Amino acid sequence: MAQLLEGKPLAEKIKEEIKKQVVSLKVKPVLASIMVGENAGAASYVKSQAKAAENLGIEYRLQTLPQDTTENALIDFIRKLNVDQSVNGMIIQMPLPAAIDYKKISQFISPEKDIEGMHPQNIGKLLFGKAKLIPCTAAAAMELINSSGIDLYGKEVVVVGHSEIVGKPLALLLLDKFATVTVSHIGTSKAGKLEEHVRRAEVLVVAVGKAGLIKGDWIKEGAVVIDVGINRVAEKIVGDVEFEAAEKRAAFITPVPGGVGPLTVTMLMRNLVEAAKAQQQ
Ligand code: NAD
Repeated sequence: MAQLLEGKPLAEKIKEEIKKQVVSLKVKPVLASIMVGENAGAASYVKSQAKAAENLGIEYRLQTLPQDTTENALIDFIRKLNVDQSVNGMIIQMPLPAAIDYKKISQFISPEKDIEGMHPQNIGKLLFGKAKLIPCTAAAAMELINSSGIDLYGKEVVVVGHSEIVGKPLALLLLDKFATVTVSHIGTSKAGKLEEHVRRAEVLVVAVGKAGLIKGDWIKEGAVVIDVGINRVAEKIVGDVEFEAAEKRAAFITPVPGGVGPLTVTMLMRNLVEAAKAQQQ
């Protein structure tokens, strides 16, 4: 039976480190959070971010803009925060109104304040193995893999999902550890090859958003399984991996909920403190 890789205890450990760094800063760090319109999903993220920030001694400055905010008005708002020296980092809450293109507007965030790690300059640094601000979900998955104690050098790692926020940055982080990385996606599934890739995985990370996509009996004996997926099935939250069958074969597996989720917000706070440290130097 697999050992559970739980996010909460690991997050608590990392938070202790973050707290120490916050105390060593010259000025209390400030995270600006921008929400456009009212949205229940975004509101629940905001609540958990605000709580995490407060516990760490970080000021969480929520700015809610009207639903009919235009792209240009949002860009102007971001530019003001870029030059506001009291703000160390910013996050734009999703979802945004349909008229606003996140990919476009996120480029206007100053790379020094881009605590989601999605500015092309930060992605470029990631490619060179020099990033300080790493996309939060990919960083959370990496922390969980490391907490299993596995040495990634030369290991077969299969990532399912190739999004900009999870699969692609995670593949870069894994390559830096000299893992042999396969990134699979919808094309792999359509070609009927997903199972054969998953079966080889000594470390498997799944970030798709389809409940039961990864069958439990595909898991290699002794594998480390990180399930990033979040799916609501019959009022329950489940991942992308068939958990009960998978935990019989894996050596380590993340629960859903309770695995990657609790760590993601901690990674955001870690990035904020990294940004503040760099700015205060
Ligand atoms: P996305 O929609 O941007 O990307 C989905 C990926 O899955 C794509 O690469 C796509 O090609 C691939 N895919 C789709 N169908 C597939 C199939 N049948 N077989 C193989 N690959 C397939 O999604 P995302 O934003 O990366 O999120 C993925 C999942 O992770 C979602 O469930 C999301 O809710 C969850 N998520 C969790 C956290 C967290 O903190 N725990 C954070 C971000 C995302």
